[in-house]
Amino acid sequence: MRQAARSYSVQLAIIGSGMAGFAASVFALDRGIKTAQVGNTGAVAYTTGYLDLLGGDQHSLLTDPWRALVELRQHEPRHPLARIGEQEIRTALARFTHAVSEMGIAYTSPGETNLMALSPAGTLKPTCSVPRTMLPGIEAMTQGAPTLIVDFDGLKGFSAAELVANLRDSWPELRAARIAFPDLPPGQVYPEVMARALEVSTNRDRVAELIRPLIGNAGAVGVPAVLGMHNPDRVQQALQQLLGVPLFEIPTIPPAVPGIRLREMFEQCFPERGLTLVPQQKVTRIDLTDAKLRLSLRDSYGEVEILAQAAVLATGRFLSGGLFAGRNGIRETLLDIPVTQPAARSEWYRERYFDRRGHPLNRAGIEVDDHFRPLDAAGRRLDPRLFAAGILLAHQDWTRQRCGAGVAIASAYQAVKGAVEVIGQGSAATRG
Ligand SMILES: Cc1cc2nc3c(=O)[nH]c(=O)nc-3n(C[C@H](O)[C@H](O)[C@H](O)COP(=O)(O)OP(=O)(O)OC[C@H]3O[C@@H](n4cnc5c(N)ncnc54)[C@H](O)[C@@H]3O)c2cc1C
Repeated sequence: MRQAARSYSVQLAIIGSGMAGFAASVFALDRGIKTAQVGNTGAVAYTTGYLDLLGGDQHSLLTDPWRALVELRQHEPRHPLARIGEQEIRTALARFTHAVSEMGIAYTSPGETNLMALSPAGTLKPTCSVPRTMLPGIEAMTQGAPTLIVDFDGLKGFSAAELVANLRDSWPELRAARIAFPDLPPGQVYPEVMARALEVSTNRDRVAELIRPLIGNAGAVGVPAVLGMHNPDRVQQALQQLLGVPLFEIPTIPPAVPGIRLREMFEQCFPERGLTLVPQQKVTRIDLTDAKLRLSLRDSYGEVEILAQAAVLATGRFLSGGLFAGRNGIRETLLDIPVTQPAARSEWYRERYFDRRGHPLNRAGIEVDDHFRPLDAAGRRLDPRLFAAGILLAHQDWTRQRCGAGVAIASAYQAVKGAVEVIGQGSAATRG
């Protein structure tokens, strides 16, 4: 006999568990909305942990994201960030970083200028907010302070020597050293394993013993981002105390601990705050025809349906499966929403990979109205209850413009704001 689907009835359904989906959940919980979120692992596990607002254009890296936003509104009025007021972007970022810090990973408050943060290769990246565990590195670099960078035997994709070589001209007092992480077999070691090991105090003691003799005149020590999985600030403080100098993290190449940390923290905190989370699953169908939106999916216990007054689509791009690139063009995968894209496949890329204008493919995405509701081929909103957020949106190139988290967080804020109005009207109609 076929088992009946498990059914959840909520006010808001959020589809996707990347930065935009998580931000939408933060804003929905803030407003006391009964919410369900569905999504599996996506691009969030690849991020550095830095939250970029707007850090680049065709010509250069940008120091003042707020001034750059004013210019973006003039030159790229269809860019998602250009369609959101400055005050709303400020509120969204401030609220998001505050909520994340409160849940357990301390982030710096967004300021008036970008921070120049370290990349794994020792280049600099303009970003708006960083995990607190990474801030002392930016401070040491700004002061040119004598600093030691330590890496680990067998760790691929992060080399203290490379980082030092690339930064030496601007930071002469930088040195590199390598240690073997205690008890890990020789060969390849993984950041996630080291991060979980450093949650244990005896492992911190042993790592500190190996680093201490190398410190010399260094006023700070940098390590790859492995300082704990669930409580990075506490792990940093404890190890820092053992070393006697400020300690900081530098992101590694993906998949990276800072993104995995965020995902694990949200997955733990959201249900505690009343959100219905269906992790590691994908919505397979949305039915827009009934009085409530009906989302269908399947988990290991069988069919699940979610009935919602409104929904936010935050399914990302190719890496996360929100967009699919085929021989005949690019499709949105869940509702077949029209995708703005180059006219022909031959126009997806420019000839030179590093062309400063970027590749047209990277600006493909779905169109939305001023309330962030997806549009159909005729430019009409698809459904008044359906909203969209994140890098699924057209007219932005998050890699080149260094605006990934900014687009995700600010558009999620707008989408939830729109959804609240729909939900309010629904509740008023029900009461009436
Ligand atoms: C290597 C790398 C490094 C990055 N570094 C930075 C950085 O330093 N700073 C920065 O600001 N940004 C960075 N980003 C970008 C950042 O990760 C993205 O901008 C941001 O994650 C976009 O969020 P999103 O939620 O729109 O999409 P995604 O993060 O792609 O999330 C989409 C989610 O939707 C889910 N999904 C897809 N289809 C369905 C479905 N049918 N049902 C349910 N769920 C579905 C996916 O599983 C995924 O969880 C980086 C990205 C990468 C790949």
